[in-house]
Amino acid sequence: MTPIDAAWRATHPLPTLTGEVTKDSRGTVLVVGGSRSVPGAVLLTGEAALRSGAGKVRIATARSVAAMIGVAFPEAGSVPLDEDDDGEVIVGAALEESVGRAHAIALGPGISDKGAAVAALEWIAPRIDEGALVLDAVGVACAGKHADLLCGLNGRLVLTPHHGEMASLLDCDVDAVGVDPREKAVVAAKRFNAVVVLKGVATFVATPVGALLHYEGGGPGLATGGSGDVLAGVIAGLLSRGAAPEIAAGWAVWLHGEAGATLARTVGPIGFLGRELLPVLPGLLPR
Ligand code: AMP
Ligand code: MG
Repeated sequence: MTPIDAAWRATHPLPTLTGEVTKDSRGTVLVVGGSRSVPGAVLLTGEAALRSGAGKVRIATARSVAAMIGVAFPEAGSVPLDEDDDGEVIVGAALEESVGRAHAIALGPGISDKGAAVAALEWIAPRIDEGALVLDAVGVACAGKHADLLCGLNGRLVLTPHHGEMASLLDCDVDAVGVDPREKAVVAAKRFNAVVVLKGVATFVATPVGALLHYEGGGPGLATGGSGDVLAGVIAGLLSRGAAPEIAAGWAVWLHGEAGATLARTVGPIGFLGRELLPVLPGLLPR
């Protein structure tokens, strides 16, 4: 097991900013999620992608909240989606062009209903050509019966479950995840041909070929609403810049943790907000 330390980061660098750097060369992230009951999570994920250096972000969310999100996040493009009676997204043709253009897609933040997330996954995954997919929150908890679909992405896939979501993904007891989180991360990485970020006090990053990274920094202040949405956005942002899934995941776990550690020092050990991680991220990126 390898720590995500300075030595790992030195040997697994992020794509460098050489030559002509444009919005297009740093990639486009598409965030698909949100709902009438959790409208703001997509903001955190989308801004985290920009704060990690993505060139452009588009937010695809429920029509009834899309305009509010657009005003709250003027840097992002907006793709209003149909929604059901409960305000959960229904994906369809409106998303076709955005999926084709995205270098990385983050699916799940703010979706409250597994049925809505499964339908979105079944529609989006087969339409991804060369981009990468990050599944978070309900988007990862719903994915257990879709191994064939996920393996079709040929490894351009990052799953970011916490222990409860991992239990849903593997259809096992949450206590079993706690007993051997490393083994569960490795099993999931192989089963879904994905880089798996199993989050917790200790976070494990497993790859389909059996590599295993771990990170234990950040502190308990990171256990707060929206923290995981930020992590998913950092991963998507680094993927859009061309980082391979293992590198994007390892760096994102470190950047998110270091942002938490920075706020623990400057604000206090607990009580900072998920959104306060966002402006700390750029200063932690390699120059
Ligand atoms: P989520 O459960 O999706 O909101 O994500 C929470 C994030 O905070 C994950 O990245 C966890 O690894 C991280 N986290 C939660 N609790 C702790 C803790 N006590 N120490 C360090 N990181 C934590
Ligand atoms: Mg979460």
